[in-house]
Amino acid sequence: MRRALVVLLVLALAAAAALWIADRPGTVALSVADLAVEAPLWLVGLGLALLLIVFSGLVWLLARLRGWLQRRRLKRALRHRDDGDAAVVAALEALAAGDGPAALKNGRRARKLLGDTPLTLLLTGHAARAAGEIETAEQSFRSLAGRKGAGAFLGHRGLAQLAVERGSQGEAVEAAKAALSLRPNAGWAQAIAFGDSVRHHDWQGALRLLPEARGDSETGYRRAALLLAAAGEETDATAAQRLEEEAVSAAPGLAPAHAALVRRLRAAERTRAADKALERGLAAASHPVLAALAVEASPGEPKGSRARRVASLAGQVGGAEMALAAARAALEAEQWAEARRWVERGRAGGLEDRRLHVLLAELAEREFAGTERARIEAEAHWRDAATAPAEPVWTCTACGATQPEWTPACTNCGTVGSLRWGEAAAIAPRLALPAPIPGL
Ligand SMILES: [Zn+2]
Repeated sequence: MRRALVVLLVLALAAAAALWIADRPGTVALSVADLAVEAPLWLVGLGLALLLIVFSGLVWLLARLRGWLQRRRLKRALRHRDDGDAAVVAALEALAAGDGPAALKNGRRARKLLGDTPLTLLLTGHAARAAGEIETAEQSFRSLAGRKGAGAFLGHRGLAQLAVERGSQGEAVEAAKAALSLRPNAGWAQAIAFGDSVRHHDWQGALRLLPEARGDSETGYRRAALLLAAAGEETDATAAQRLEEEAVSAAPGLAPAHAALVRRLRAAERTRAADKALERGLAAASHPVLAALAVEASPGEPKGSRARRVASLAGQVGGAEMALAAARAALEAEQWAEARRWVERGRAGGLEDRRLHVLLAELAEREFAGTERARIEAEAHWRDAATAPAEPVWTCTACGATQPEWTPACTNCGTVGSLRWGEAAAIAPRLALPAPIPGL
């Protein structure tokens, strides 16, 4: 409607102009060098109008042609995108089916159709990795990692994964640190950086990668192990003591943490504080290392008073290990009945390993020394000792290996804070790099 009005208006104006020109006869003269042309004004007007119409027609035709070309380009681009999307899906399917070469073929096709987008680079990287073309995989991940913005993190992750798979720790750490600068909470990157800090004895660096923890959780044990390792290398006694106190509160059930603190306080001749720390330790963790610290006689202490002191502490804190220590102290003091009483308390507390039978054999030999009864009873206890379970050891919850002494990291697999006293091998899965694409 509006268009029709515009056309009518233009026609009306043209008619008015034609009438106006027809009313005013005149000529238009044009001379170029020797050539001179003269024409009536109405003819020139008509010629100009025709010229205008032809020019408008040409402009219209060009516009139509341009529109048609644009539509054609758009259609082709859409077809490319659809084909590219189909290639992406086919590559993902091939990856899920474990068909590396097909995944790579489709990944390359997607990259050709869609260009080097974060998605096609990521896909080509993982497809090449699945197809065993590690160089191509690395190139794709490196291009992705070098991009600004979206996708860089995924590139670092792919590079870390390749490095872990070929056992190149340095490159894995480099990629993990680059990934952490983009996403500080990425678990896999933290795990790689954590392992690197532990390898280099950078205990504080490793601690920074662990969340705060209290009360015997897995993280608590890990923190405590790192804190004790740091305390062991600390030259300032006050700082070392602070680290040990922190270890005790991070993992109250970890006997070596209490033992380290007790030894530190005794070395500083803070006897009362050491005794308190030992009592707290024994109440929280029944362990031979703490029982041994309780028994350690002060120089010149008579055996009888030592037996009374140990028995009093054992009665106060409870626990099978302290019962065994009290029995041993009573035996040394030749208090036979007292020794037997503590052996029974140890048994009631769940102690039934070789140490108990060895102690009973020694008790029989010494109590009835030189008699037939001593020989018969001792022999029976030695026989029991031979078949009784061995005393508990430290067991790694990551690899199942056992070791007699506690260390911050398992001596077999290197996992930090994984040792538990006397526990059966409850193997926890090791921290591994997650799957590159969820579900694949
Ligand atoms: Zn281990």
